[in-house]
Amino acid sequence: MQYHLNGFRPGDPDLKAAAPNAHDRTNGLPRTVDVVIAGTGPAGLCLAAQLAGVPSIRTMIVDPKAGPMEKGQADGISVRSMEMFQAFGFADKVKRESIWINETTFWTPSNGRLQRAARVQDVPDGTSEMPHILINQARIHDMFLDIMRHSPTRLEPDYGLRVTDLTVDPTTDDHPVTVTLEHTAPGREGQRETVRANYVVGCDGARSNVRRAIGGALHGDAAHQAWGVIDLLAVTDFPDWRVKSFVRSETAGTLMILPREGGYLVRLYVELDRLGEEERVAERGMDATTIIDKAQRIFAPYTLDVKEVVWWSIYEVGHRLTDRFDDVPADQIATRSPRVMLAGDACHTHSPKAGQGMNVSMGDTFNMGWKLISVLTGRSDPSLLHSYTAERRAAAKGLVEFDHEWARVVGEKVSREDADTRPRVAREFENNLPFTCGLTIQYEPSALTGGAEHQALAPGFNIGKRFHSAPVVRLADAKPMQLGHCLEAGMQWHLFAFAGAGDTGQPGGAVADLCDWLDSDPASPIVAHTRAGDDIDAVIDLRAVFQSGFRDLDYGAMPAALRPHKGQYGLCDYEKIFCIDPKRGEDIYAQRGINRDAGCLVIVRPDQYVAHVLPLAARAELTAFFAGFLRPAS
Ligand code: FAD
Repeated sequence: MQYHLNGFRPGDPDLKAAAPNAHDRTNGLPRTVDVVIAGTGPAGLCLAAQLAGVPSIRTMIVDPKAGPMEKGQADGISVRSMEMFQAFGFADKVKRESIWINETTFWTPSNGRLQRAARVQDVPDGTSEMPHILINQARIHDMFLDIMRHSPTRLEPDYGLRVTDLTVDPTTDDHPVTVTLEHTAPGREGQRETVRANYVVGCDGARSNVRRAIGGALHGDAAHQAWGVIDLLAVTDFPDWRVKSFVRSETAGTLMILPREGGYLVRLYVELDRLGEEERVAERGMDATTIIDKAQRIFAPYTLDVKEVVWWSIYEVGHRLTDRFDDVPADQIATRSPRVMLAGDACHTHSPKAGQGMNVSMGDTFNMGWKLISVLTGRSDPSLLHSYTAERRAAAKGLVEFDHEWARVVGEKVSREDADTRPRVAREFENNLPFTCGLTIQYEPSALTGGAEHQALAPGFNIGKRFHSAPVVRLADAKPMQLGHCLEAGMQWHLFAFAGAGDTGQPGGAVADLCDWLDSDPASPIVAHTRAGDDIDAVIDLRAVFQSGFRDLDYGAMPAALRPHKGQYGLCDYEKIFCIDPKRGEDIYAQRGINRDAGCLVIVRPDQYVAHVLPLAARAELTAFFAGFLRPAS
């Protein structure tokens, strides 16, 4: 992390200097804001944390609840979400607090007893530098809330407020969305206020009012199967109590064990009753005792002595997808840009057993955040927001289809084949690991995602997929680190120049030529899209990786564009140049298949997805790519 650029500030570097228009409710609610976010779940808070970092953007995030969540709901964080947390700066904190899921076991009945029938490594080697972890959803909320309150805008949620309705005035660009808010706090229940916004984002969960207001609905089906989820402290003689496990009994049904943070807490997902076609789960009168009784029957002859129930819920498995991700009808896409968008459970609902709910919801707003910032700061045309729906609808559709199939496999009865061989659920689980790791999303070619013409220069940086980090050494201070850890949440794009063989940054080499062109040529995207007064990397962040060891390169001889001077004092940013790390096995060139002779240029989006792979000399393509979605700075 870098700080002190614009002068020394003592104390916690995470606490940013407050902006003049920082959050203040002494005079009541604001009349106008840039963005209203409905809902303080993971989707809403992930978006708010991004917007809060931009002093010029006024954001309001509302929730009918009285305050932040304390327990319950989701707990699974995929490796992809952990990579995203790294960009927000709290991955290390989550790693310390959470339990890491390294192994999953599968138990089936055999000769009247439960037996461990299979084990699967939970995250395949080489998948990510991040672990798959479990932690209470509320702690993730807390970490986003910390970012918000430490940001320049000191953003805090407005609890006790529900979005009841909204209207969009298509004839104006001046705060065209009028949002009706209803107070829910004791003493103010039912009181209404309106706020006008430039954009509204509905992160208000499966029963979204924002979705209803834009005429959307969830479509899909339910499995008519009740499941119980319970967080508890208990004593048991079941051996895999601290291992993620699927337990399938002969006749009593199925459960899943999810060991939780702190070393003692455990979550169980327990299969309960089949439901009738028209029956709702609430009608059965099931409660925590129902879940525990059923779990004890599934575990038998192992014992389960519950000491404390922390949280429980009973739900019916459903797989649903919205027909609207934003307020623009399909036949008006060419003439209108979205003013209202939906994210998270407001768009897609699925069974919790694949651990996707919180992850995909945060993925939605990590995709949306930088786009809203680009538009609201005038750097991109509002039509950029259409790409949110295009990209995330496809991701959500894939999720719902996957979840449908996975819920079916988990709910299957024991078969004879299971008793004799590796259970089907274990095989399917293994096949699905890329999905549960959150790594199957690949955005289609578009203005934001290039074609595959030059993919062969670096097959390990899959265009349209997330940037797969690898170890490097930073030249200036010889720090071994992950290259991906220099990507921070915000609206910055990243250009990684991977040097070809023999290129040490010397004048006349491919990297130096590229740097000189990027630094000074009018066609350079950095020149074209960086405003006067901005730091040179405000929009496009240039970095280089060389094939030499750090002792073999001369920092002082590197091209000027890789040693930029920034901020009010013109201090040098020393963190743009990297070398291979020969101490950690294969180097980044080998790990990602980068062409050692030619090198290449990898363009990475603000949300850590690979946008393009180009030759180092591809000037016209580079100019055209950024001009496709960034406005000229002048
Ligand atoms: P949510 O987390 O649902 O957040 C929506 C927020 O919007 C809430 O804070 C709500 O109060 C607020 N809101 C609602 N209406 C309005 C309105 N009109 N205006 C403003 N705000 C509004 N996933 C798992 O993986 N495992 C589980 O065991 C599990 N259990 C769950 C149990 C429950 C009871 C629920 C509701 C969800 C559960 N989930 C579980 C799903 C998981 O929590 C969600 O997928 C995830 O939280 C989705 O995030 P989100 O931000 O889209 O929505």
